[in-house]
Amino acid sequence: MYRFLFCFCLGVVIALGTHMGDAQEMEPTARDFHSYANPSAVRVKHIDLDWGVLFDQKILKGTATLTVDRISADQPLVLDTRDLKVEKVETSVGGQSFSPATFTIGEADKILGAPLTVPLPANANQVRIHYSTSPSASGLQWLEPPQTAGKKAPFLFTQSEAIHARSWIPLQDTPQVRVTYTARVRTPKNLLAVMSAENDANTPRDGDYSFRMDRPIPSYLIALAVGDLQFRSLGPRTGVYAEPSVIDRAARELSDTEKMVVTTERTYGPYRWGRYDILVLPPSFPYGGMENPRLTFATPTILAGDKSLVSLVAHELAHSWSGNLVTNATWRDFWLNEGFTTYLERRILEAVYGRPREEMEAALGLRDLNEEIATLEDRDEILHIDLKGRDPDDGSTDIPYEKGALFLRHLEQTFGRARFDQFLKSYFNHFAFQSITTEQFVGYLKQHLLDKYPALAAKVPVDEWIYKPGLPVSAPRPTSPAFAQVARQAQRWLSREIPATSISTAKWTTQEWLHFLKFVQESFESAGSPGASATQLSQTKKAKLLSELDRAFRLTPSGNSEIAFQWLLMSIRNHYEPAYPRLEEFLLSVGRRKFIKPLYEELAKTPEGKKRALTIYRRARSGYHPIAVASIDEVLKWRAD
Ligand SMILES: [Zn+2]
Repeated sequence: MYRFLFCFCLGVVIALGTHMGDAQEMEPTARDFHSYANPSAVRVKHIDLDWGVLFDQKILKGTATLTVDRISADQPLVLDTRDLKVEKVETSVGGQSFSPATFTIGEADKILGAPLTVPLPANANQVRIHYSTSPSASGLQWLEPPQTAGKKAPFLFTQSEAIHARSWIPLQDTPQVRVTYTARVRTPKNLLAVMSAENDANTPRDGDYSFRMDRPIPSYLIALAVGDLQFRSLGPRTGVYAEPSVIDRAARELSDTEKMVVTTERTYGPYRWGRYDILVLPPSFPYGGMENPRLTFATPTILAGDKSLVSLVAHELAHSWSGNLVTNATWRDFWLNEGFTTYLERRILEAVYGRPREEMEAALGLRDLNEEIATLEDRDEILHIDLKGRDPDDGSTDIPYEKGALFLRHLEQTFGRARFDQFLKSYFNHFAFQSITTEQFVGYLKQHLLDKYPALAAKVPVDEWIYKPGLPVSAPRPTSPAFAQVARQAQRWLSREIPATSISTAKWTTQEWLHFLKFVQESFESAGSPGASATQLSQTKKAKLLSELDRAFRLTPSGNSEIAFQWLLMSIRNHYEPAYPRLEEFLLSVGRRKFIKPLYEELAKTPEGKKRALTIYRRARSGYHPIAVASIDEVLKWRAD
């Protein structure tokens, strides 16, 4: 490590000393503890990829050709890799002829993988690596036909964020290095490949596909999917890809996408990526969505039938500004991606669906945040989190998302919406296609907002928001009048004034249902706490109340993933056994980590629950994504037999 630290610092000095005036090299380089790369000495600018997608072996096999900028002439190129089988490395001057080169692969670290070091001959500016991936690559998921919606063809998709790109491409896997790329992908003839690049929906399905991404993007946004995919247009520059049996449902659910793009542009400036398409993946996708540029990857669990879960699309679309255009320079700056995006997501929802919807989403966000803060250590409640020596995926809590969004809400409320919108628009413009640190953001905020209005600035404790745990006392507390109505009805039912069938739920949105269920659970818990003995509810009583709700509203068979998840969580907590078969079915068919991790955690709290969890997990595990598997293994202290 000392050697890399040394090279790194030297690189910075040289870069500043010899390249003044060149914007790219002038980018302040933050130490990224999650990459071996030395971008201050040698910086990758462009990558040409060429693979065969070998479903039978579950590997990608081919080449990555990297074009580099030599900032420090005597330094080798250092790349990140994880479980890659490197066969051969070649170098070239200007892409003319490639000559064999020596290379070394260092010792593998559990989190970081292994550095691949290539000494560069004088003037060499291209490096070609012949390699294949491992069948267990952390960034690839290979699905057998039964794991897809259509059940006939296999499926492959990638998930590169945070540091999984290195498991399928040897590259400088740090968000502060931006590259353009091309790719040629060979697949079985009946399948279509799509990437986070220019996709041609009408390309002949011949198993040979070419792509180009001409805007510089960080490594974690390089993405590929291969499957039996169809396309539907949603608007002049928007569309959706999905398996044939899902495509119509997906197109209906996502029909507001074009409107969302137009709305976002109105406030935050032009959409700079050309097309905006969405790929609906099979259910094992471990996340809600992934903002791969030009092609958001999304879980099918958002297809609720009533557009109530399309906040996810608003979120991933917002990343086209916050995250993809202005990118966190290291994973400790992750809140610059997610806090801004969660804030923008709610602004888009407000513009398209009205203020009450925004209030509901913000109130639910605050509740989740408070619940999570109650369980986190102080160090994990800090926006500018220290992740040195840890897996950057550990930083993916509600803190960067909800606390970050609440901070921006505080700024908006303090400085006024018009001023704050103007500030954000110029921020996106100023740092477009750059990767920046928290310090750079704070500097820009100070210069362009705080210092202009010192009296208002005094009302926002910026340092406390960014560098301290918990929430400042002056933090906004978003509330929703619609939720207050829901709570009143829930209260009347809980105190047995009215039966469940008299609760007027006909016009409830998913958000109102979630609030209702969470309110009921909270009432159960406060009634069960010491000192509340007068209203204490026995376990049997709680299960009886849940049974009444279930009869009235058919919650156990709910096809709405968010409602089903909340209901199943309550069922475990209150030992409501009639929901257990559905719980098992849910855990076997959905791989979204946001849902399955809390369910396994809740089960693991009692010995019988843990036994049940292990029985289900034994069957479900092979269908989950490696990222979800890593999380659940830890929850259940799983040891592969
Ligand atoms: Zn996000």
